[in-house]
Amino acid sequence: MYRDVLLYIDGTWQGSAAGKTIPVVNPATEEVIGTVAHAEETDLDRALAAAEKGFAVWRRMSAFERSKIMRKAADLLRERSGDIARLMTMEQGKPLAEARTETMGAADTIDWFAEEARRAYGRVVPARAEGVYNLVVKEPVGPVAAFTPWNFPINQIVRKLSAALAAGCSIIVKAPEETPASPAELIRAYADAGVPAGVINLVYGVPAEISSYLIPHPVIRKISFTGSTPVGKQLAALAGQHMKRVTMELGGHAPAIVFDDADLDAASKVLAAAKFRNAGQVCVAPTRFLVQEKVYDAFLDRFVAAAQAIKVGDGLDAGSTMGPLANERRVQAMEALVADAVQMGATVRTGGKRIGNKGYFFEPTVLTGVPLDARAMNEEPFGPFAMVAPFTDLDDVVAEANRLPFGLAAYAFTRSTRTATAIATHVETGMMTINHNGLAVPEVPFGGVKDSGYGSEGGSEAIEAYLNAKYVSQASL
Ligand code: NAD
Repeated sequence: MYRDVLLYIDGTWQGSAAGKTIPVVNPATEEVIGTVAHAEETDLDRALAAAEKGFAVWRRMSAFERSKIMRKAADLLRERSGDIARLMTMEQGKPLAEARTETMGAADTIDWFAEEARRAYGRVVPARAEGVYNLVVKEPVGPVAAFTPWNFPINQIVRKLSAALAAGCSIIVKAPEETPASPAELIRAYADAGVPAGVINLVYGVPAEISSYLIPHPVIRKISFTGSTPVGKQLAALAGQHMKRVTMELGGHAPAIVFDDADLDAASKVLAAAKFRNAGQVCVAPTRFLVQEKVYDAFLDRFVAAAQAIKVGDGLDAGSTMGPLANERRVQAMEALVADAVQMGATVRTGGKRIGNKGYFFEPTVLTGVPLDARAMNEEPFGPFAMVAPFTDLDDVVAEANRLPFGLAAYAFTRSTRTATAIATHVETGMMTINHNGLAVPEVPFGGVKDSGYGSEGGSEAIEAYLNAKYVSQASL
């Protein structure tokens, strides 16, 4: 049932001009399940021309009409979510239930941005003279180039795409080659809902070739990227050379802070779910579990038990609660991080190894005693890899939370409002969630600070990234 995936340019599904394709592999079986079309410059030129034409059409359509089309796309996505989730699990590995949640969540995101489209208000600024209107008018920034990764094949696209469309922009999406079919179904839902030709264009290929061609191109006015910090810095630098607006959603290394007055059952349950969801391949996943001394042993026991209760298997199997990693690179990265930490004196409390010899399966892994100069304490592990360490007091834990250049997400558990306020104030992070996991719903901001990037992909902030503020001062004659 997995179909070969095509490019979508100027309202038509098509192969690349040169006929090149890239194989797609199921990470649970390592079998090739299909191919995806591989775009080259000729295809990109067609996508650019289409995006320019599409922008001229879409920006003139009223926000009311755009919003109606977007809502229809959301409904189509919901109707098709069962089939789409299967495609996602086959190409990405996550359990079917997670793939379904992602697809249904994407429909909610579209609805949110459809509503935001109708609220892209400007304002009237009081003038210094009678008969003068000082107007601030919001206009779409122009054709967008968006680059998205394989960990949430639909969710990473839907936020950029829907914010851009709500604002009146057209877009070229460079979707992930490793997980191409499910995002293509998102685009299909939009196309079937009636988005005019050229407004949305979908390409795949060699990421560096596509970004180095699209970012400097004069048609493109805005760049949005989700991925690693090193790649984000390169793309932001290129965008800077060409004065393009940028949103960067980059890596994280989230602290999860458990104070000695916390509800330990809730903390271990919520944090284990946040850690091992999508096999830990989540930019906001907690990584450094910092636990106050008095409750360190009690939390560790509960957390290790939660990790051991996870059923790792093919995401299509009903009992699996964690699938394989998305590719062989991640398995090798996990092995290298575990070996480095152990060689530096860390203890593996559970997991630490690859599972079997077919598929990219890795055990849910918990380490303690990891020194601060171990690689995993400094690099985003991006896998089912948790490190638990004790701390003494608030100052001590704030210093550790802020030690790294990342600042994407942070988690805390405490029954004290004083502690909750202090931790929310002093941790350098784009997002903080206390006593539950409240991250990543469409109506709240989503984004980081420091090396984790800039700009927000959620909340009312998100549409602003795709709008220019034009000032018009008008005097009556
Ligand atoms: P990578 O760093 O090469 O790629 C990460 C993403 O960036 C991929 O989607 C890739 O297609 C894209 N990319 C890479 N070079 C690019 C370029 N020059 N132009 C445009 N796009 C480019 O490696 P990877 O093995 O796929 O992932 C490794 C690391 O990336 C992970 O460890 C994690 O830190 C990070 N990552 C982050 C997210 C996230 O949600 N923030 C998602 C996926 C990967």
